[in-house]
Formats: sequence, C-alpha cells, structure tokens
Amino acid sequence: MRKMLIAGNWKMHMTAGETEQFFREFMASLRQPPFREALGRSRLEVALFPPFTSLYVAAFALEEAPRGFSLGAQTVHWETHGAFTGEISPAMVEESGCRYCLVGHSERRHLFGETDEMTNLKVRALLATSLRPVLCVGETLAERERGETFTVVRRQLLKGLESVPAHRLGQDVVVAYEPVWAIGTGKTASDDDAQEVCHFLRSVVGDQLGAEGAESLRVLYGGSVKAENSAGLMARPDIDGALVGGASLKSDSFLAILRES
Ligand code: PGA
Repeated sequence: MRKMLIAGNWKMHMTAGETEQFFREFMASLRQPPFREALGRSRLEVALFPPFTSLYVAAFALEEAPRGFSLGAQTVHWETHGAFTGEISPAMVEESGCRYCLVGHSERRHLFGETDEMTNLKVRALLATSLRPVLCVGETLAERERGETFTVVRRQLLKGLESVPAHRLGQDVVVAYEPVWAIGTGKTASDDDAQEVCHFLRSVVGDQLGAEGAESLRVLYGGSVKAENSAGLMARPDIDGALVGGASLKSDSFLAILRES
C-alpha cells in the first residue's frame, strides 16, 4: 500500500518570521481534535517546502510534530560543492533537516531554463544522499491543446529518471503531475483527467522499469489543489497525494486539505 503524501510548496513566500508564525498556529491545531486522534493512526505523510532561509526555523518547529511530518527544499544544485555562487548543494539541504527536494517544478523549467538533463542530474545527485526527489512533470496549455500531453510528460518523466535504478523508485522517488495551466490559476484538472495522466505516468514507469517499481511509486497531483477539490482527486486510484502551492501558505487552508485527505 502506498502512503499518501500531501506536500506544501511555499515558493518565494514566507520570511523566517512568518514561518515561525505559521508553525505556531499549525502545531497548535495538530494538538487539537480531530488531528490529534487521526494523525496517530493515519497513513498520511505531510511535507512542507519552505524557502531555504526558513528551513532552520521550520525544522526546529517540526521537532514537536507527529511522525510523518517532514520538510523539503524547492530546488538544489547537482554538484557537491564549488564555485557556484547562489547555489545550494544536496548536503546543505540534507543538513538543514530536509527529507525531500522538488526537482523540475514548472517554474524552474519555464522561468529559470531548467532542462530535462538538469532535472536528471539533480535527481541523481539527491539519490546519492538521503534526500528523496519529487520530480515534477506537466504540460503547458498549448501542449495540451495540440494533443501533446502524454508525449511531454513521458519525455519529462523518462529523462528525469534516466539511470535511476528501479529499486530506488518506490522508496525514494516521488513524481508529481502538475499541468502548467492549472498552477496558480484556480483551474484544476478534472478528477478524471488527473487520474488518466497519473495512471499513464505509472504505466510508463512500469514499461521501462518494471511492475514492482511502478506499483510502489507515489504519483501526486498538483495545480490549484484546495480543500474543496482535494477529496475527489485523492480518491482516485493512481493519485497518491497532492502538491499544494497557494493553499499551503495559510495554516487553516492547509489543515483543511489534510482533513479532507
Ligand atoms: P498552486 O501551486 O496550488 O498554487 O496551483 C502548485 C505548485 O506549483 O506546486
């Protein structure tokens, strides 16, 4: 059975002070019903992805969280160290208390020119540490309208996972399907469309890397997820969680999604 993962990507929001405030409210709510009882026995995993400058504050706050709560970084460089002004290495992310790291988010691809080759280098660099990559794939509106959704996500997935051994997939890699036209737009993919692409991604992994890796691989959906639409999406058989942007910035709206999942 795959464990559900609800991930909150804060993007370039939340100073360290605002992060402290978020966790004050968030942790207080987790100690109250219905969370206190539910989280003890749930199969739900929760990960927050604050900006780098908030990671230490977040890691400190999460020391009191129940099991299954963790942190991730939003990007990373693939080199271990060196003259790369402004970049952060996997070991730096690891030491900041992270378990996960996003790779190939559409904003990294479209605003910062991250290519499939770069996402693959990052995935492999993360897997050389204890960090788990969350590889994001997704088509633009123009690509969807041209009928290229499956070609695009297949390419992003296979290039991103190149040279990753099958046995690392189920345990250590998460894939997130995020249609670019649904990110931050308020337009969510329908439950059926999201399920269809998540199922497709799993079958591509199955064909290339074997049924076992595909069965245990977690595939998330992202793009305007909120409490009102999360239950329907999460109920689909190939959707193992959500990557939440805007609705993860407020403790209340993020908790509402956890309650629905
Ligand atoms: P959104 O962002 O929920 O604000 O659409 C999702 C993401 O970019 O990961």
